[in-house]
Order: sequence, then C-alpha cells, then structure tokens
Amino acid sequence: MDATCGMFGRSPDFMNIFFTGFASAADEFGKTDKRFAENVRTYHAHIREHDICLTHTLVNPQVDRSRPVEKQDKDLAAKIVKETDAGIVVRGARMVSTLCAYADDLLVLPSTYLANSKEAEPYAFGFSVPVNAVGLRFICRPSVVHQNAASVMDFPLSARFDETDAMVIFDDVLVPWERVFIHRDPELCNGLYNRTGIMPQIMHQFATKNLAKAEFMMGLGFAIAKSTNIDQHLHVLGMLSELIQFTEFSRACLRASEGDAAPPLRGGDPGGNAAVDHPDDVSENVREDVRDHPAPRCRRPCRRALLCRACRICGEGCCYVFPGSKRGCRDADQTFPIGLRRCGIILLGPATAL
Ligand SMILES: Cc1cc2nc3c(=O)[nH]c(=O)nc-3n(C[C@H](O)[C@H](O)[C@H](O)COP(=O)(O)OP(=O)(O)OC[C@H]3O[C@@H](n4cnc5c(N)ncnc54)[C@H](O)[C@@H]3O)c2cc1C
Repeated sequence: MDATCGMFGRSPDFMNIFFTGFASAADEFGKTDKRFAENVRTYHAHIREHDICLTHTLVNPQVDRSRPVEKQDKDLAAKIVKETDAGIVVRGARMVSTLCAYADDLLVLPSTYLANSKEAEPYAFGFSVPVNAVGLRFICRPSVVHQNAASVMDFPLSARFDETDAMVIFDDVLVPWERVFIHRDPELCNGLYNRTGIMPQIMHQFATKNLAKAEFMMGLGFAIAKSTNIDQHLHVLGMLSELIQFTEFSRACLRASEGDAAPPLRGGDPGGNAAVDHPDDVSENVREDVRDHPAPRCRRPCRRALLCRACRICGEGCCYVFPGSKRGCRDADQTFPIGLRRCGIILLGPATAL
C-alpha cells in the first residue's frame, strides 16, 4: 500500500483477501454440490501459491434498472448459454473490471439481488477465467495519464497509478468446471457476502489502503507547510492537526480491528487452507473508519476531501508550478529526499526545509 501511497484502490491484495474470505467459508458454496466448495478451496490454493493477480466484475450493464436482469428488453448481461462436459459457456457483458490490464485472472461474481426463478438462473453464477481466455475481451476506458506531459513529474500520481477500468465482453467463453464456484443458483448468490462473512476482510483491506493514503496526504501537507514556513500560522496549524487526527483515527480503527479479531462464528474452515479470523468486531471497527463515523466531518469521504483541501490551501500557488522538463526532474531527483522523490512530489523551496 505504501508503494502506491494508497492510490491503488484495487491493488492485487484486494481480491486475494476477498477470495481468502470465500475459501474460509468454502462449505457455503457446496450446499447443493460439494464439488463447488472444493473448487473454491483449490482455486484459493492456486492463487496463493502462484501469486495470481485478480480483476473482478460484479455488475450487469445499466440498461433498465427498473427491471430485473432476466426481464430486460435488451439482453446484454452475461449469462450461461449452455453446459458442456468441459464446463459452462458464457455470453454477454459485465461492467467495470478494475486492474484488468495488470491481472492474470478475471473473477466473475454476483452482486445485486436475483429472483429465485428459472428465468434468473442463467444469470446466477460465479467463476474465474484467465484474462486471455478465448472469447474474452476488455474494452478499457482511456488512460488518465496525460499524453502530452513533458515529464512524469508533471502528474506524479496519475502518471503512475492508473489502475485501468474496463467493460468485459464474453463471446461464448468456455469456463472449465473446476473454475466454476456457483452454477445457476440464485439462492446462493443472494446474501453470499453476508453468509460467507467476507465483508470484514474487504473493509480491513479498504482501511489499510486508506491509512496509507492518509499518511501520504499528511506527509505531503506537512512538507508543503514546512517548505514555506506557513506552519507558523495558527489556522495552518489547525489544518495540519486535522491531518494528524484523521490519520491516527484510521490507524486506531485498523489496530482495534486486528486486536479484536477472532475465528469466524460460522461457515469457517478451521482445518482447511484458508482459516482466517473475521469476527463482527473487525467489521465494526473498520466500518467506522471507512464510512460510519458519527461525526459527519470524520466520515471517510469528508475526511478525504479535507485532506486534499488542507494540502491545496497550504500549497496554493506553488501547486501550479512544476518543473515540466527533463532537467527539472533530474535536479529534483538529486535535491529532494527519497520519500518525496519516490512519490514524485516536488515542491518549490529549499530541499533542507523538507
Ligand atoms: C472507478 C470505479 C471502479 C469500479 N471497479 C469495479 C470493479 O473492479 N469490479 C466491479 O465489479 N465493479 C466495479 N465498479 C462498479 C461498481 O461496483 C458499481 O458502479 C456500483 O456497484 C454501482 O452500480 P451501478 O454503477 O450499476 O449503478 P446503478 O445500480 O445503476 O445505480 C445508480 C444509482 O441509482 C440508484 N439506484 C439504483 N438501483 C436502486 C435501487 N434498487 N434502490 C435504490 N436506489 C437505486 C442509486 O442511487 C445509485 O447510486 C467500479 C465503479 C467505479 C466508479
């Protein structure tokens, strides 16, 4: 997380933690057919042993949100069109798949509620395929990297940390049976995340990323303020103390979540290959950090905006002046401390002030 300053929301650990949660509750997948539970365990071991990077897609194309997926006029959503001895065949589209450009495998999972009916069954699945599977295509949004920038230093974050989002097209993709985790099973899809208890794991990863981002923004705010000695002013000190407070609040929630961790209450796999702790306490602590703080000013979206605002106000005019040439970057590389150089942050003012 620190390597990306918390700017990669879907760094590879996100999906690996996600799937570890599933593997720790693998029996849930085997309620109607035990082989699906086994598939989850085997796939978990595979991604763990081979350090596989996953992208994922949960959401159907937004065609007519007033109707369920099986009652759309335009039948665009990905669905199972047939089964063969080798596996299931999937046709249609799914929306946003972040990190696809870096991924080895695509994990396709349910999200919204599905009717428990025969018509909805073709849309009720969970599986994984390699990103280079025959018939699989990603249509990526344009990169946020500025194509005409004189130097990567002009856009130090966006030039380095574009995760890439894409729409996914399945053109009769064959998914082998051993990579199928849910098969025509709306009941299993609905409430899957609660029953497997993976939300605390996901929230913990969010909170870890948010702490890295808060630390980065705090360091940036302090570096800016110190570089021009504006930290002598009381209102600037107030903003800087908020940066500390927000960062340390995130750290405290994360630590509490780890301190209170305990084995899962149900659905666990204590002797299996993915025994993990995820009690309700973890969920409450990290959820407080991620979104539920009682004070509106301390809620995550608000905190993030305030972190950015503090850095912008402390920087003001100097934020607009970057050395956009190769020479500027070379000079900056020699002059500025390693931490800020790594982040690509260059501030006007003497390096010693940082
Ligand atoms: C930058 C980015 C990256 C993403 N990366 C991924 C990814 O890697 N993998 C992935 O699977 N998804 C990803 N997503 C997609 C994300 O999961 C969805 O955008 C999100 O679930 C919302 O779904 P939607 O976009 O279809 O919005 P919709 O469901 O169409 O909702 C739009 C708005 O309509 C309202 N609304 C819709 N339905 C209802 C309802 N039933 N009741 C009340 N209000 C309703 C809500 O106000 C909602 O905010 C990403 C999204 C973004 C923006």
